[in-house]
Amino acid sequence: MKNGLDEKPDLRKLTHNFSAGPAALPHSVLLEAQSELLNWNTKGASIMEMSHRSEEFLSIANGASIDLRNLLSIPTNYKILFLQGGATQQFSQIPLNLLARKGKAGYVNTGIWSCKAIKEARRFGKINIIATSEPNQYRSIPDIKQWDIVSDLSYIHYTPNETIGGVEFSSIPDTGDIPLVADMSSTILSRPIDVSRFGLIYASAQKNIGISGITVIIIREDLLGYASNLCPSTLNYRLLSDSNSMYNTPPTFSWYMAGLIFKWLKKQGGVECMSNKNRIKKNILYDFIDASSLYLNQVDQKDRSWMNVPFLLKDTSLNFQFLSESKKSGLLNLKGHRLVGGMRASIYNAVEISSVYALINFMKEFEKRHV
Ligand SMILES: *Cc1c(COP(=O)(O)O)cnc(C)c1O
Repeated sequence: MKNGLDEKPDLRKLTHNFSAGPAALPHSVLLEAQSELLNWNTKGASIMEMSHRSEEFLSIANGASIDLRNLLSIPTNYKILFLQGGATQQFSQIPLNLLARKGKAGYVNTGIWSCKAIKEARRFGKINIIATSEPNQYRSIPDIKQWDIVSDLSYIHYTPNETIGGVEFSSIPDTGDIPLVADMSSTILSRPIDVSRFGLIYASAQKNIGISGITVIIIREDLLGYASNLCPSTLNYRLLSDSNSMYNTPPTFSWYMAGLIFKWLKKQGGVECMSNKNRIKKNILYDFIDASSLYLNQVDQKDRSWMNVPFLLKDTSLNFQFLSESKKSGLLNLKGHRLVGGMRASIYNAVEISSVYALINFMKEFEKRHV
């Protein structure tokens, strides 16, 4: 008898998922979650049915935190929080917790996600735009030497990888003593980073960490305790840190899935190995696009994203055909973001090199047929 469990993996083998988020997950991790869904670790209950204060769940939660600390070599003076609300909630939570230190903050505008962060932060106090790449349609990173950094800022916020525009910083900006705050939702764990250069790092889980519903915050301890009086308890970093991210019930299943991904990453050889694989993936795809006469990526070569590769067809009348034929060939979720159109291939950690080759082969064939 078919129980559905045998069929789905076979169908998955015929597809390649380039979703921008929630994004592809490693096949082996899904199988693992499936195998212990009804009965976690011989406890006779699902992880979804256990108290977040139980010994069992605490071992999962702490294990995830320790594994992430090892993967990114997070120094001991940083706290790791697993929170709800997505990266979007951080757009408010960060100013609510950090703005009061000096009364104003600096923001760098490199695209749609930075703009959203800026718009929210403005509700809470004075925000200076210290650099912007809007004048060149967000096709590059504003030269760090030209940033308008004044000394009395509570923090400087930037978006290391713009998921929609496909623009990524290739190095960490130097902001001196001013804490650097980074929205790493679509780049975290794709390559090694020096966490000690940051005041706060945050990332939604549904790209490189796991499934939606949980957000990872890595915060330097000395930045805890500046929340404004109006900050709700559920958003107060100090309270959340003191309660080990369990001020109220956390999203337990999302936390568990993040833990499985961290174990998978360790097995893959860690972030260094991921970065080697990711470098190959983005190089072969950009090289192919640049050499073709149909496809186009408009981002400055030095600032191109490793994780999100937007591209256009020079003949836009072929857009619909490209998307419907690629879907039929098992290449899923190549449609560009609704705000910018075109196509986008997101090639996060869980996307294999073979999937990128499958995409390139399709693009080659499509170009042959239509140009
Ligand atoms: C996906 C994403 C977000 C939004 O995450 P939510 O979980 O939907 O709030 C914010 N910033 C960046 C850079 C993203 O890629």
